[in-house]
Amino acid sequence: MFAFGSQIGNIRDNDMRILIVEDEKKTADYLHKGLTEHGFTVDTASDGEDGLHLARSEEYDLIVLDVMLPGMSGWSIIKELRGEGVGIPVIFLSAKDTVHDRVHGLELGADDYLVKPFAFSELLARVRIILRRHPLQQPEVMRIGDLELDLVRHRARRGGVSLDLTAKEFQLLSLLLRRKGEVLTRTAISEQVWGINFDSDTNIVDVAIRRLRKKVDDPCQQKLIQTIRGVGYVLDESA
Ligand code: CA
Repeated sequence: MFAFGSQIGNIRDNDMRILIVEDEKKTADYLHKGLTEHGFTVDTASDGEDGLHLARSEEYDLIVLDVMLPGMSGWSIIKELRGEGVGIPVIFLSAKDTVHDRVHGLELGADDYLVKPFAFSELLARVRIILRRHPLQQPEVMRIGDLELDLVRHRARRGGVSLDLTAKEFQLLSLLLRRKGEVLTRTAISEQVWGINFDSDTNIVDVAIRRLRKKVDDPCQQKLIQTIRGVGYVLDESA
């Protein structure tokens, strides 16, 4: 199963839990040792499927995710998690150092991207910055204005009124809400909600947004779903 089993070190009440998904034993050992020494509780998985399973079944504050993994790539893992509305912070590790790969990683919803080889001190600094930005586990209920999404009960309400959303609409709305204020391109949306990179001329995202708007925005004066012409969509209450 896992290369090192589920290794748990230095358990204290307020410990942050980090999942490392990395198939190179040397790198995984090095990260495990370093993070444990700095007081984190660390689990490791050595292939993509185990990593996704752990990320879904346990509660972590952050995932350090290798891109090239046996079984399932880091990119597929983050797509799955983000598609399910899981907003846990992710730092990608990759030997690939091209702008395209970095942008792709960030578009898929990663919080940071570190190119191998890297210094442990740099990883640690980035982990701490991200954890400071996300002081709590992902909330069970996300809100913007009078719109709220209950991720556990899979319910959406606006102004206290339940919205009848399909599974895809819920996924789309949770993506927009998780990244509220941030413009998402059609490509980023289609990758995360449908798991496919649609041709840029497809209108599947636009059609889905139109349906979502009918339910979320049409009955209300304040419109939350904004179109950024030529770019994509953003959920924003200031407009
Ligand atoms: Ca690898």
